[in-house]
Amino acid sequence: MSWEEVADRCFRRGYGGFDVNVGVVSGRLGAVLIDTRASVPEGLELREQLRELGVETPLAVVNTHGHFDHCFGNAAFDGPFWGHLDLPGYLEHEAWRTMAEDDPDWAARVEGTPVTVPSRLVRDTALIDLGDRIVELHHLGRGHTGHDLVVRVPDCGLVFAGDLVEESGPPCYGSDSFPLDWPITLTRLLELDPERVVPGHGGPVGTEFTESQRDAIAAVAHGIRETYDAGLDPLKALRSAEWPYDPALLLHAVRRGHLQLAASG
Ligand SMILES: [Zn+2]
Repeated sequence: MSWEEVADRCFRRGYGGFDVNVGVVSGRLGAVLIDTRASVPEGLELREQLRELGVETPLAVVNTHGHFDHCFGNAAFDGPFWGHLDLPGYLEHEAWRTMAEDDPDWAARVEGTPVTVPSRLVRDTALIDLGDRIVELHHLGRGHTGHDLVVRVPDCGLVFAGDLVEESGPPCYGSDSFPLDWPITLTRLLELDPERVVPGHGGPVGTEFTESQRDAIAAVAHGIRETYDAGLDPLKALRSAEWPYDPALLLHAVRRGHLQLAASG
């Protein structure tokens, strides 16, 4: 696929393999790149493809989160790199572990890859000024990971949601997800009042899709609480309750949720 202009001078490009989206927001002073693909060679290919948009080198590179398919192309770019405050620690300690869990073949393939760590760190909100427009970065709470950033372009009502929203498959609950926090984080995303949302994977969606995904994610959180209160272990919980997604995809969600509930007493 080639670049798709999803809103005024805002682009996304989807890539096969991991089916991941990359985003670009262009303004008078330059362009913001959102995510960098899964390896340095993939990042270098992306850098070439940015020329099709007249972008020689981005003014800023934003990582939505530390999963390898979104940021292992970082070293193909010059930066400056923006990410959540907890992203550097995640890249150092956890990114390789979760990649080895999720995709051992890819982990072996990219072993030793340098991953540039963001130095522009965001706790809650930051702005990037493109001269004639502003790009906002928001951490709206935990969800897909503990350090998800969304990118909002207020002048055209567009939000790049990273993997807080997924269109081409169900939302991904990994061993670093926060299933009980995720629904409220999506409610905050909806409060940004986006006209369109670019998910981490799949095509752009509207408010209705995002709301229904939020509701399904809230139903998962409800099932986690209910099965915890009933004293069920995670495997039993997955067998006995009703879930909005294939229970085989929810093992980490239920385990993580039950642990969180146990820790909160
Ligand atoms: Zn992810």
